[in-house]
Formats: sequence, structure tokens, C-alpha cells
Amino acid sequence: MNIETLAVHAGRAIEEHTGAVTPSITLSTTFERAEDGSFPHGHIYTRSSNPNRAALQDALTALEGGETAFAFASGMAAAAAILQSLSAGDHVILSDDLYHGIRFLITQVLGRWNLDASFVDMRDPANIRAALRPNTRLVWVETPTNPSLKIVDIAAAAEIAKAAGALSVVDNTWATPVWQLPLALGADVVMHSTTKYLGGHSDVLGGALVLRPGLNDLAERIKVVQSLAGGVPSPFDCWLILRSLPTLPIRVRAQTESAGKVARFLADHPAIERVNYPGLPDHDNHAVAARQMGGFGGMLSFQVRGGKEAAMQVAARVRLITRATSLGGVESLIEHRASVEARSAFRRKTCCA
Ligand SMILES: *Cc1c(COP(=O)(O)O)cnc(C)c1O
Repeated sequence: MNIETLAVHAGRAIEEHTGAVTPSITLSTTFERAEDGSFPHGHIYTRSSNPNRAALQDALTALEGGETAFAFASGMAAAAAILQSLSAGDHVILSDDLYHGIRFLITQVLGRWNLDASFVDMRDPANIRAALRPNTRLVWVETPTNPSLKIVDIAAAAEIAKAAGALSVVDNTWATPVWQLPLALGADVVMHSTTKYLGGHSDVLGGALVLRPGLNDLAERIKVVQSLAGGVPSPFDCWLILRSLPTLPIRVRAQTESAGKVARFLADHPAIERVNYPGLPDHDNHAVAARQMGGFGGMLSFQVRGGKEAAMQVAARVRLITRATSLGGVESLIEHRASVEARSAFRRKTCCA
């Protein structure tokens, strides 16, 4: 099935007792036991599982071509869960350019729990290999990266991780399964902030992990973190994200077409120093992007001649585009990313220097 068909059908079935075409929201936190103590409907308590979460997880599994998926209350909760499946003393390799929350989760929180991390420029896979240590357990790939749109060769990174006995995780938030299928390229786990393109309307926070087949131990560990640490999405949040999936391919195609036009316009503009968009032929890893992505996505960043003041002026003077953080919604947003990250409350290193 092509992704348009999957997006409409995965995780959906006509509801047996009502005939409803669109699923109901099951708000009940608890579910009845049978006389023998079993749970004939498969659910016990909503922190452990819920029909709306199960449906969303089924849909995400299908879209990413995985075996199992876990939905979380945010992308950060999903990231935390995979990192919490590791042990103290383990070493993780991450992109030097990546979603800043994940960097801070490591430097501010998990470093105190003795998780070791190296941040390397993954545009060259040799840098990943050079950073391997005997205790490396996970290689965290983000591609395209936030905010510089660096492209990492997923197959090469996954291969290096595998040879070292480490897991490879790909944050597929920016590319979406419409354009990039990391599991098919050899990665072990896909992570999403479903807040972005999958939710698609800037009205629901969520995250997910999708695992390739055969990772039963990891699935068990993540299930334990999801259920016991409790960072689960509400039934309504799950319902909203599932509601958004049928239009995902159409939205992402339209967003990509628009981003390509904006990128080409900016690339030719005399006031612009540099445009970071993997679809431009002069992007430094354009060939890798063209190989592993079906399209180049709806995100771009650019540098304005004249430095910070000039850049702030561009963001200050837009009319149609809103100055706000986040991405993947139907509206266009803009921000001066350097000052957003510089002002982040998490920037101060209070630990793990
Ligand atoms: C937004 C984002 C996250 C964090 O997700 P939340 O849903 O905000 O917790 C992680 N990775 C990437 C690439 C993101 O854009």
C-alpha cells in the first residue's frame, strides 16, 4: 500500500458496537476484569494502555514500517524513554547539531545519572566511527538536523552502530515517513515529535518511538519506562494525532513544495548569505539527501547578510508568517533561532561539565 492509503486506514476500523467510522475517545482510566480476573478487552488501566493510544501506535507502526510503537506525551518524553532504557555508564553518540532539548536532556539530566555522551558532526560518518567507545550503546541520528539542516547518511550511521553493537535511533520528526523511512535504511528505532508534522495543526503535543522487528528486549524495556515513568499521552491527544494522519502525506507534499520555492527564492536574493535546504543542489550533502529522502521537507533555515540585527529585522517585519517556535503545522512560522537557543532556560550547564 502506498503511504496515502496507509495513512487513511492504519489504526482505524469501523467501531463494532456503534458502527462509528471515526473512533470514539475512551476516557475511562480503568477497564473491567472478567470473573476469572483476566482482561478480555486487552486493557487494564490507561497509563499501561488505552484503545486510542493502541490505535495511534498501530498507525505509527504501519507508517514507519516497524513492528511496534510507543506513544508518549511529548517528543521529549519519547526521547527520554529510549535514553532511560540505557544504563548508567553507557555512552551515546549524537549529532553536534540537533534539537536543543535533546542536548539539554543529556547535559542537564541524564549526565547526572552517569550517561556519557559525545556530540559529533555526523555529516561525515567517519566522525561517528571515531567517537565509538567500548561502552557505546546508542547512536542518535537527527536528519535533517534542527536548525542547520545537516544531512546524515542513515544507512552508514546504522551500519557503524550495528558493527559496534549499539542501537541506532533516528529522529524522523523533520523528514516524516512521507519522505524518509529510517527502519528500511537499517536503523533500529525511529523517534518522533508528533507535535510537529504528524499532529500537523499546532494543537497537540506528542511523541513516539517505532521499533524495527526483532527488538523484543528493547520493546520490553521501553514498555516498562512508558508505563512506570508514566509520560503517556491522553486519549484525546492520541485521537487528535490519529485524526491528523490521513492528511499527513498531502500536507507534507504541499509544505515541501512551498519550502522548495522559498528556498530557491532566498538562494537568489542578494540580502541572503546562505540557505540551508537539502533540496538545493549546492547543499553539502544534497546527494545523500536525494538518495535517502523522497522529498526534501518543509523546513529551511537561512543566514541574512548583516548579522544578528539584520536577521532579527527579517523576523520582525514578516506579515503573513507568524513569529513563533515549532514547525509542521499548516501555518508558516519564523524565528531567529540563535537567540531562541541562547535564551533557553536550560542553557546554563548546571551539571556534567
Ligand atoms: C520539537 C522536536 C523535538 C521535541 O518534541 P516535543 O514534542 O516538543 O517534546 C524533538 N526533536 C525534534 C527534531 C523536534 O523538532
